[in-house]
Amino acid sequence: MNELSERFEPAEPVERPASDKLRCDACPVMCYIAEGRTGACDRYGNFGGRIVRCDPVTILNHAEEAGTPLVPFAEGQANAWDGNPVNTRRRFVSGVGAGTTYPDYKPAPFIVSQEVEGVDLVTVVTEGIFSYCGVKVKIDTDRHIGDETATVYAQGEPVGHVTTAEYGSQMLSLGGVRHLTGGSKAEGRVTCDTLLALCNRQPVELSIEGGSTVAVQAGAPPIIDGKVEHRMRVGCGSATIGMFATQWRGLVDEVVVVDDHITGVVSEHQAGKVLGWPDTGIKIIGRRSTPGRYFKVSEPGLAWGGTQLTDPLAILGPWNDRKGARPGLSLLMVSTTGEQYAYYELDENLRPVEKPFPERLRKSVELIEDNCEPALCTVLFMGGAGGSLRAGVTENPVNLTRSVHRLETYVTVGGAPVYVWPGGGITLMVDVTRLPENAFGYVPTPALVAPIEFTMRRDHYVALGGYESEIRTIEDVLERGGEYFNDRREVLAPRGNVWPLLAQLRRGAS
Ligand code: SF4
Repeated sequence: MNELSERFEPAEPVERPASDKLRCDACPVMCYIAEGRTGACDRYGNFGGRIVRCDPVTILNHAEEAGTPLVPFAEGQANAWDGNPVNTRRRFVSGVGAGTTYPDYKPAPFIVSQEVEGVDLVTVVTEGIFSYCGVKVKIDTDRHIGDETATVYAQGEPVGHVTTAEYGSQMLSLGGVRHLTGGSKAEGRVTCDTLLALCNRQPVELSIEGGSTVAVQAGAPPIIDGKVEHRMRVGCGSATIGMFATQWRGLVDEVVVVDDHITGVVSEHQAGKVLGWPDTGIKIIGRRSTPGRYFKVSEPGLAWGGTQLTDPLAILGPWNDRKGARPGLSLLMVSTTGEQYAYYELDENLRPVEKPFPERLRKSVELIEDNCEPALCTVLFMGGAGGSLRAGVTENPVNLTRSVHRLETYVTVGGAPVYVWPGGGITLMVDVTRLPENAFGYVPTPALVAPIEFTMRRDHYVALGGYESEIRTIEDVLERGGEYFNDRREVLAPRGNVWPLLAQLRRGAS
């Protein structure tokens, strides 16, 4: 007997012939599952002669947020109601473990009513099968990990590409329907595996065409070519000059902040001009944008400020004595994270010579380091709640879309707040670290399975064409569970994920 069948062995096992398989209809794969075994996705199994969802339904408890101590839920005590008509425990039935509605025309697995702060609410709870989905990955680093549009590989299969870099971060766009369904079978399977691992906050190794190998895990520092990235940059070179020019005034004659995108030079920069900084006759080899701001001083790389420079002097041309250069002139060169820095003085021939780093400048370099935030990987799941998923909420699915866009229906994924894109459909993004652990699943079609909940006023739900006769109380859900016979477990809601009503009220939808 395997571990799962032990967990779900019914009190009185049903005698069935060994060959008697049951068909799971929770996704298009329609597995035939033998007694005691699980189906292809491991989320459903045949236990005791019935199809069982193998993970418990997760009930999020917002007691801490409401200042009420959490009393752990125990099987059989779901109806221990204290007589208070207002729900102070603020339980929320999440889609984690809820089961799906495939083939969609039937109502969602749980449609739960609850009175919160005097308002009758309904939450429609399901696990959506997302064939159209992917992740956006933000990697906090200045280092060049690959060209924009370069293909990203996992286990040797293409799973996405490098997209537009953001402020202090490199960005990847992974997954999407074309990698899931439009390539080889292996590409689809590996893409699905990669998305699932990232969404469940597991580490994944990605290699970028013509670039680096990056180990990515949501909420953890990136590891680039085997090296842990500790800090993201304080800003671009120009911004760094702007922030710290006053710290350097009077301590050094010139400062260059080396950056792959915008290298800053304090004597030419507006921040220096405002402080009356004298000219130094410096010459930067790069494309001058505006005074004291230079583009393309080097090719992108893994060295100083995300450039290929191991010797920052390589970006300096001859010094001009008619514009202020003189023997003994002091120069600080520093990267945008403060990790690399060096001090020079011009010799008799106006050539910079490296000198021991002076104590008087150490504080300013440390200040750059102190202002750098920890480098992290951020993973946002992005998916479209399609026409069929919406049919589990209402008989007229477009009503749900309109309601979401009018902010009358609040969408959550595993209880976490989402961003819904404007325009057509319900295309959403969610930070995977705000969901309960292992909230995502998959089906081998291939597609990801993600919990999703729609919360709205009860009268609004009825007006939308919702399945009024399927509405149940939360106590009933806790006691009797759902059609997939799984347990219920109650966990503390992650901090910062407010009960949906609070957000609704703030939007004036009540
Ligand atoms: S893959 Fe999973 S959900 Fe789909 S039919 Fe098989 S067991 Fe059921």
